[in-house]
Amino acid sequence: MQYPFSEEQLAIAELTRNFMEREVAPVAAEIDARPDPEECYPGELINKASKLGLRTLAIPEEYGGMGADTLTKTLALWTGAQVEIGTIKCLSQCWKATTALTKAATKAQKDHWLTKFAADDNAVCSLASTEPDHSTENRLHGGDPRLGMRTSAVKDGDYFVINGAKRYTSLMGHSKLILFYARTDPDAPMTEGVTCFVLGGDEEGITYGRTHNKMGYRLYPNRESFYDNVRVHKDNVLGEVNGAAAVRRHVFRGSAELAACNTGLSRALYKICHDHAKERIQGGVPIIEHPTVRHMLAEMIMNIEVAEQFMWRICWGADNDDSFTSRFTRSGKVFSDKVGLKTIELALDVLGGMGIMRDGPSEKIVRDILTFLHGDGTDSATLLEASQTLDQPA
Ligand SMILES: Cc1cc2nc3c(=O)[nH]c(=O)nc-3n(C[C@H](O)[C@H](O)[C@H](O)COP(=O)(O)OP(=O)(O)OC[C@H]3O[C@@H](n4cnc5c(N)ncnc54)[C@H](O)[C@@H]3O)c2cc1C
Repeated sequence: MQYPFSEEQLAIAELTRNFMEREVAPVAAEIDARPDPEECYPGELINKASKLGLRTLAIPEEYGGMGADTLTKTLALWTGAQVEIGTIKCLSQCWKATTALTKAATKAQKDHWLTKFAADDNAVCSLASTEPDHSTENRLHGGDPRLGMRTSAVKDGDYFVINGAKRYTSLMGHSKLILFYARTDPDAPMTEGVTCFVLGGDEEGITYGRTHNKMGYRLYPNRESFYDNVRVHKDNVLGEVNGAAAVRRHVFRGSAELAACNTGLSRALYKICHDHAKERIQGGVPIIEHPTVRHMLAEMIMNIEVAEQFMWRICWGADNDDSFTSRFTRSGKVFSDKVGLKTIELALDVLGGMGIMRDGPSEKIVRDILTFLHGDGTDSATLLEASQTLDQPA
């Protein structure tokens, strides 16, 4: 941990590491192996983390949280990801949604939603955008009114009436605070015709479908949801009507979330390789003494450390620089995805056959890294978005 972190940030990282190692590590493999993906949600662990203040890390102190900045949240996520990604990502999803709410909400909305959320040790958050037929196009075709999400919210007096469906939504069905995106102007492009609502998840007309049976991140489940004439009061509009794009910027501006997930996981995989290389004897010596193996380990840690240093730079920009370019955020995500993939490639060489054994220490991490490469958008779509800023100064 070379970046200059404050004493307080290091204390939160330590709290996170202790919780993850003491409570999560002993049970994670068993939960991950449950065949029913819905049974993999680590509700009891979230409850315990909440009692330590980790669930509400990003909520301002006046609402009962720790008011953590981007660097602190990223450090805590990166620390936790080295132990078990699903549980820490459940907590990070709470940090992401409550940060956006804190920035975009009115005082009355904050009083209601943040107070309620902070008081409930079992509450988690979702951000619902992706639909069965509209996902990447939600972000790539903002200028064409015919493209993008179709879940609608139609004004009816003081209410909006929501109809449609979402899928792949993380923590859906468990969430009690949902940032929900719906089309309020079907004739306007995505950038001008979508509104963000805050839902509690228990509104009449919401039904939950199947939980997706994912390869990795199994302790962080995703679920389908359906909306049949769900009435939501206009007070639940976050930001402006048709102004979801501004709320989304609060969510993603300066986010280093995926970079923290990928570098944390990659570091955990590197450690397994390093330990293995010191113990495994071939050619009469521990394999770490073979130049090929040392070279592979050096390449792994080089990639990881470069990605991490760039991640801390993103955090600094998000916390200290209002003109911070979103290209850094996108580059950080894509680069860390590539580092994750390269780490897998090298790890499966260093570990040999052991690397793919179902009961080996690396198998879950390999599945986890592969699972979220398209988190927050595929790499190709993310780079396409980044290319829109090529003419801006860094
Ligand atoms: C673990 C996990 C967690 C998730 N969590 C959430 C969540 O909490 N909330 C939520 O809303 N969503 C969530 N998602 C959905 C995720 O954001 C989408 O899966 C992702 O955006 C990609 O969409 P898709 O899978 O439908 O792929 P597609 O949109 O079908 O894309 C397939 C390929 O086509 C390319 N492509 C598609 N359209 C274009 C285009 N117009 N131009 C150029 N290339 C294009 C893509 O880049 C990609 O290479 C989650 C997904 C997973 C797996």
